[in-house]
Amino acid sequence: MTRRRKVLAVIVILSIGATLCTAQEQKPELTRDYNVKPVPFNNVRVEDRFWTPRLETSRKVTIPYCFEKCEETDRISNFEKAAGLLEGKHEGIYFNDSDVYKVMEGAAYSLQVQPDTMMRLYLDKVIKVMAGAQWEDGYLFTFYSIPQRQPEKLWTNVQSIHEQYCVGHMYEAAVAHYQVTGEKLFLDVATKNADLICDVFGPGRRTDPPGHQEIEIGLCKLYRATGDGKYLDQAKFFLDQRGRKGNRGPNGDGGLYGTYSQDHVPVTEQTKAVGHSVRAAYLYTGMADVAALTGNMEYVRAIDAIWKDVVDTKLYITGGIGAAGGHEGFGGHYELPNMRAYCETCASIANIFWNHRMFLMHGDGRYIDVLERVLYNAALAGISMEGDRFFYPNPLESAGQHARSAWFGCACCPSNVARFIPSVPGYTYAHKDGDVYVNLFISGTGQIETTDNRVTLTQKTGYPWQDGIHIAVEPEKEQQFTLFVRIPGWARNEPVPSDLYRFKILQRPNSEEPTLKVNGKTAKIDLRNGFAAIDRTWKQGDTVDLRLPMPVRRIIAHQNIVDDRGKVALQVGPVVFCLEAADNDGKVLNLVIADDAVLRSRFRRDLLNGVMTITGQAGLTKRTIDGDIVSAGEKPFTAIPYYAWAHRGRGQMTVWPAREREAARPEPADTLTYRSRTTASFVHASLDAIKDQVVPKNSADSSALQLDFWPHKDTTEWLLFEWDDEHEISSVKVYWFDDTGRGACRLPESWKVLYRDAASSFKPVRANTSYGLKKDTFNKVNFDPVTTNAIKIEITLQQEWSAGVQEVVIE
Ligand SMILES: [Zn+2]
Repeated sequence: MTRRRKVLAVIVILSIGATLCTAQEQKPELTRDYNVKPVPFNNVRVEDRFWTPRLETSRKVTIPYCFEKCEETDRISNFEKAAGLLEGKHEGIYFNDSDVYKVMEGAAYSLQVQPDTMMRLYLDKVIKVMAGAQWEDGYLFTFYSIPQRQPEKLWTNVQSIHEQYCVGHMYEAAVAHYQVTGEKLFLDVATKNADLICDVFGPGRRTDPPGHQEIEIGLCKLYRATGDGKYLDQAKFFLDQRGRKGNRGPNGDGGLYGTYSQDHVPVTEQTKAVGHSVRAAYLYTGMADVAALTGNMEYVRAIDAIWKDVVDTKLYITGGIGAAGGHEGFGGHYELPNMRAYCETCASIANIFWNHRMFLMHGDGRYIDVLERVLYNAALAGISMEGDRFFYPNPLESAGQHARSAWFGCACCPSNVARFIPSVPGYTYAHKDGDVYVNLFISGTGQIETTDNRVTLTQKTGYPWQDGIHIAVEPEKEQQFTLFVRIPGWARNEPVPSDLYRFKILQRPNSEEPTLKVNGKTAKIDLRNGFAAIDRTWKQGDTVDLRLPMPVRRIIAHQNIVDDRGKVALQVGPVVFCLEAADNDGKVLNLVIADDAVLRSRFRRDLLNGVMTITGQAGLTKRTIDGDIVSAGEKPFTAIPYYAWAHRGRGQMTVWPAREREAARPEPADTLTYRSRTTASFVHASLDAIKDQVVPKNSADSSALQLDFWPHKDTTEWLLFEWDDEHEISSVKVYWFDDTGRGACRLPESWKVLYRDAASSFKPVRANTSYGLKKDTFNKVNFDPVTTNAIKIEITLQQEWSAGVQEVVIE
């Protein structure tokens, strides 16, 4: 906590006293909602070896840390300025308000589980500032409020400025705060703002849809909290404007935003997941909410088709979505690159929101299968175990160029993690018409208020590392109902609910089949929609024991996923593994895990806060001087859970090691270049890439990485190659990197080669040919032979552009 926050918090304590009360929220009667009702996370007490530390870290580290970052980056002072408490202009990106709201939402959830006076008071203070920043008519968006209010700017660019996106997050935060504290100030700010939105946008008024979805979800939450149907109507209105030609914007007829914002056709006609993946998954989540609240089956048909499109062709084995970095969005069918995977952390979280709604709508376990896959893999990888470092993209392969960051200019991901982790317990249980669902396996207690009973379920489990789950069932009154206990797809030979991935071994021994006991007696699993349905008269003292055997499972991807061909992924329970440099002598991309290699899993308490590991023997591959790929012996390997990677420095990592030699990235041949100690004036991407002996398809090809000097421009950079002994050298070849059309690297202005002479100073070589500057090929310079222990390449960048190098060969 910063000093300023402490001071303010103390003042508030003195003035109002530190009483905490959790008022009972008054629930309006809704005519309809989801068929299946979630059990809110505040009715789920977690006492779990895996999740309790995560929840504690979120409360003690992530949320205060994100507030501190919001202060440091002026996200909060923007509100203070808008409220007239400070002077100054707006700092940061125009949609930065949203991050503050998201962390507040997380803080509210966290308060529900664990009262925390300082956090409560801090929220009170920020809410008062926000109320002060709100205009008389309800408008609240700091970007147009400082240094002075600019009423002429409002709603002039709803495609890109994200006023509605920001307040959508405010509605979510305000509802969470109201539900936790019973205090209405924040909710009043939200409804006053929503009333304004309803006045500005609607039939016969403004009809252009928001450029970034989110407000639809927020409006549904406002509707649920207040019972005011106009918020639901407004959410539906925004959904229905999407993809309609002739929408009326500020300048008359608006064009469509296109696929990027899922605005290419009306939402009810959409069948494929396209465009920016966070926008998309928020849209599908909003459609599910509005469908549940209105009974609109057209929305359901559309999101059913889109869900199938994602699960059939666009889902990473980690559960991540949004493969392509260029538009932060979905790629084409089966376009799932590993090193270039975008897989934004926000998209993983949004994918969980969406799949949870799909489950609540259909009551089918396959949606929880996807949710669980995202949860334990892609989503959890987005935050460090210490709680204060974050990934924005989540690649499935690294050459060492990736590391979590302390924060981002666009901080959507850290603030999303801050609100997501405290809500995880809310995905554990659900109920419908007196029946009860166990979706996730987390030790602790769930209090489930069914239609006419209260059922307490207490789980004891070592999940995701141990195969046993013990559930004590305690209905308040003895009653007949069905307890649906999820049998995860991975335990039924179905890694995902499609043919996108399959387990290598389908015929498993009986000992690896799930088993069920009720009150200690073996019971047949009556599988219904992915759940073991246990239908009986339940009474106090009843127990269920589920065993989900967790052998090491090998996963093979659909052959259309080019990047995964000849490769294998490893999974134990719901957890997807990766091989990382730190456990494997620095190199993993050259390894081959043959189909007959014996794999063993073992829990390591000493490693990464306690993780399961997979060990075995892997083959080594190496390139010969002639360019052939050959076996070069074998060595033991260790795999760790994917979520736990990138905690021990940068290095190689892969979720998809090779199972065939051709799919490995071989150790380079022992050329003079490869044997050198190589350094550079500056490294962006990968230094190793310039001597990995992978010749790119063209200068733009970044599939095997390059070294570039971005964001340097107009500088002279250098590459240095050194040896312990002297060598006679007479040529240098350079293959330039150039990402015209997507980046800022172009051919350099010029370059030259120097060598270290006997007096240890660098002298230019006497070149016999010109220093080439051609794309898509090697540029070779021949020179009078020199005998030296070091070669330096000096590269002068163009004034306006950066530059990069794909490959260097020194002979
Ligand atoms: Zn994000």
